[in-house]
Amino acid sequence: MKLHEYQSKQIFAKHDIPIPPGRVATSPEEARAIAGELGGRVVIKSQVLVGGRGKAGGIRLAKNQREAEKLAREVLGMQIKGLPVRKILVDKAVGIETEIYFGITNDRTARKPVMIASAAGGIDIEEVAATTPEKIIRAHIDPLLGLQNYNILDLAIGIELPREHWRVFNQIAKGLWNAFQGSDATLAEINPLVITDDNQLLAVDGKMVIDDNALFRHPNITEMRDITTENESETEALKHGLTYIKLEGEIGCMVNGAGLAMATMDIIKHFGGEPANFLDIGGGANAEKVAMALRIILKDKNVKSILFNIFGGITRGDEVARGILKALEEIKPEIPMVIRLVGTNAEEGRELLANANMITAETLAQAAQKAVEASTRVIEEV
Ligand code: GDP
Ligand code: MN
Repeated sequence: MKLHEYQSKQIFAKHDIPIPPGRVATSPEEARAIAGELGGRVVIKSQVLVGGRGKAGGIRLAKNQREAEKLAREVLGMQIKGLPVRKILVDKAVGIETEIYFGITNDRTARKPVMIASAAGGIDIEEVAATTPEKIIRAHIDPLLGLQNYNILDLAIGIELPREHWRVFNQIAKGLWNAFQGSDATLAEINPLVITDDNQLLAVDGKMVIDDNALFRHPNITEMRDITTENESETEALKHGLTYIKLEGEIGCMVNGAGLAMATMDIIKHFGGEPANFLDIGGGANAEKVAMALRIILKDKNVKSILFNIFGGITRGDEVARGILKALEEIKPEIPMVIRLVGTNAEEGRELLANANMITAETLAQAAQKAVEASTRVIEEV
């Protein structure tokens, strides 16, 4: 579960991380009032659960109350990456000298949490990691010992943080660790942590992702869930026992099993395509579930072809095939569909699907190639 910036910053503040004063508004008038209380310049910040709001025009600087109201009206009317802006955070604006990246996540390979800092903060940290990896400093945290002072020192030195900021940096690092650990987070991130023009360290942005499996231990965090700004299809899928994550590509994926779904996405990319989604229809997928999944995939207008990759295990191939047939009868998609069906009763399944106007494939590689081909054909036709 992702938390909004304002929610993450509330948790940060509880752990002694300095944040700018500010409040959430849902209307331009309210934003104007908050700007009045704060005085001076304010930043109007869209609260949507996606990154890159700044680049999308969802972070605006207002010189006075009147401008705050005007920009609030604009931002509240925006959609950022398909998500409507329903709330804005009105924060006191600060003059920024330096932007630092500072975050904690789990390093699965090392089986440890890792604290990450970079002097090249503010912008896309993924971009920094890809182009100038030496600018990313990491300190692994022993899960039994917890965060140690030497971890923090390694980072402060690594990013060449001026010595006068070390004390507060230490406090922020400990706060971030406590927020991360205490909330069962999988990510706690400040980007940017800024040095202001009056030489203060301040968390200007905040992001936390909480492990869904630990939410039962955090009723107060569970309450923060904002389904109105979560991706509608993802919420819908969850209700029907499907795991669906929307992506930016053009090939819809209908797969049973999370591992197989990942492998399917990898091989689509290998053959030059881009998956439109991750979708695990789970075990025992019946016709209804398949139909629901198909509907969800087709809601995404970027989808140009669909790849069904089904492994018959406990769920038999013929059952899945019947499910697909029933779903197709109901939905009748107009885009090409490729199917690879293997495992228990695959033969029977394939026979059932022989007249279903689907492109069949034997191997996963073939299936992916055919799906990529089919999608480019559709793109060329339009
Ligand atoms: P993101 O784009 O979704 O990560 O949103 P951020 O909260 O990180 O804001 C993006 C950028 O806006 C930051 O990197 C800053 O450069 C700028 N910004 C945010 N808050 C302030 C502020 O209070 N004052 C100034 N001058 N710039 C700000
Ligand atoms: Mn940011």
